Amino acid sequence: MSAKPKTLQQAVIYFANPENCLNFMVKVRWPDGVVICPTCEREDAVFLKNQGKWQCKSVHPKRQFSVKIGTIFEDSPIGLDKWLIAIWMISNCKNGVSSYEIGRALGVTQKSAWFMLHRIRLAMQVRSFLKLGGHGSEVEVDETFVGGAARFMHADKRKRRITETGTKDKTAVMGIPERGGEVRAAVVGNRKKHALQTNIRAHVKAGSAIYTDALMSYQGLKGHGFEHQVVDHAESYVDGQVHTNGLENFWSLFKRQATLTSKYSATTSASCPMMALVSSMLHHRFSASA
Ligand SMILES: [Zn+2]
Repeated sequence: MSAKPKTLQQAVIYFANPENCLNFMVKVRWPDGVVICPTCEREDAVFLKNQGKWQCKSVHPKRQFSVKIGTIFEDSPIGLDKWLIAIWMISNCKNGVSSYEIGRALGVTQKSAWFMLHRIRLAMQVRSFLKLGGHGSEVEVDETFVGGAARFMHADKRKRRITETGTKDKTAVMGIPERGGEVRAAVVGNRKKHALQTNIRAHVKAGSAIYTDALMSYQGLKGHGFEHQVVDHAESYVDGQVHTNGLENFWSLFKRQATLTSKYSATTSASCPMMALVSSMLHHRFSASA
């Protein structure tokens, strides 16, 4: 970003230019300048200037892609300009920013602003603006409670936990590992349908196959474009079947990530906080198979 916006007014002007939005996103997504096809990972896509998109040289579905593809911005009708201004505000306002302020600055409804704020905060939690999965990918979803993972509990207690929604004593954390890929964690207020499915939609691309336990809260995922398969976690933890490996690794890595995250935060006070914030979200990853 050559002329870094220093005030909100400058940020609004800066990101009103689609070219600036595009350059900004390219820089944080592909920092070495090599644009990678999200479908086949070819590195020589052709930029179509008029459309502001790239076209992969291989013939496959979705060979044309924009910088928004696979990101938290992709399925939103809100323009990249507005998203980037909102992120600018969040990363530059030390005392926090409300959905009312974002709404006023962007000229969007408070409801839209709240949605944006929520999504950006989720992305900040997991430090990535990219969604997991996609067609042909398998994503596991499970919840645990801080200090008491379901599978370590006594069988009766575990059964109760798995069938009940919500718990009073502990914080529910959702784990979302993609098989053979990245893992996400999100703190969810409760295990009700709205909380769990909002997080799935924020983190996982439609078209992914999702494996969950039999919790009622996961019903209706098919209506959001996911393939959904119920796996009896309570049983398979005992069986030690292959498909639980991702989750086993995930929950053990989860604690380690908390340490990494706190270390990493200390080093992100770069000269451009927004750049540092967005790039840290894109690059701070860890693998389920680690
Ligand atoms: Zn391709």
